[in-house]
Amino acid sequence: MAWIPYSGVHLCARHFVQRFESRALWAVEKLGMIRRGERVAVAVSGGKDSLALLRLLSKHRDRLSIELVAVLIDEGIRGYRPRKVEAAERYAREWGVELVVRSFRDLLGLTLDEAVARLMEGGLRYKPCTVCGVFRRYALNAVALELGADKLATAHNLDDEVQAFLLNMAQASFAAIAREGAATPRSHPKLVPRVKPFYFIPEKEVLVYALLQGIETPEVECPYIVYSTRHVFRRWLNAVAEMDPTVKHRVMALKVMVSGRVEAPREPLRSCTLCGMPASKGVCKACELRGYLSSVAKA
Ligand code: SF4
Repeated sequence: MAWIPYSGVHLCARHFVQRFESRALWAVEKLGMIRRGERVAVAVSGGKDSLALLRLLSKHRDRLSIELVAVLIDEGIRGYRPRKVEAAERYAREWGVELVVRSFRDLLGLTLDEAVARLMEGGLRYKPCTVCGVFRRYALNAVALELGADKLATAHNLDDEVQAFLLNMAQASFAAIAREGAATPRSHPKLVPRVKPFYFIPEKEVLVYALLQGIETPEVECPYIVYSTRHVFRRWLNAVAEMDPTVKHRVMALKVMVSGRVEAPREPLRSCTLCGMPASKGVCKACELRGYLSSVAKA
């Protein structure tokens, strides 16, 4: 029996799965995230959330009339990512989805462990999660583009979105508040539009769904999580939600309202002068960070 505290209902396993899938498919179909006939690259990490998304889309691919391919980016984090890759390979095979594994080393020339060693030498001007996030977004887009995907689906859930919103508020990042949504448009020929079918679903429900689908992955934590500011917001939100189970939904409602009204300067995306990929300035963020990391190595 699953208890949904913000709506006050108890659901048996069958009804929980039915409710979960119909909400995610509503977002996919009614919000126009994915259209019939499209080729969808699903970003998987080997964790429960992304495998739950791959499970959902592979289960309903005929109804949605879509073609699926899974993409896993190995950041190069010793003792962490390799065990998750094994889980992703096992489930992709079981569900009949091709899995493409690429690494930061292939695509960006160095592993995250090597990048973090250089960040430490440079006095941690950038945090490991900043570099990891920028490189992962770059790598996923590059591979989705190479695979001819029409959409890139990620497993970001309501908790992720609410944490990101609070973080953007704390940093007064109006452009990020205006930009982050359930689906992003194709604003550059080399930008594969992103969609988030779990955008309105709390993390705990995604985990229950994964459990009910028999998904098991190794419980290993990234060693760099201790540097993450976002993790502080995550713990704080979860503590508040213990006292008030509706808080995350109310922040999400505020996010939806505010993001439509924020007046942020929106310049059209350009092409990076170094790699040709989408960039908001002359050089994209991934090339800028790569440049910084190689300057630290030479110093
Ligand atoms: Fe990357 Fe940070 Fe997540 Fe580790 S915790 S995988 S460094 S974003």
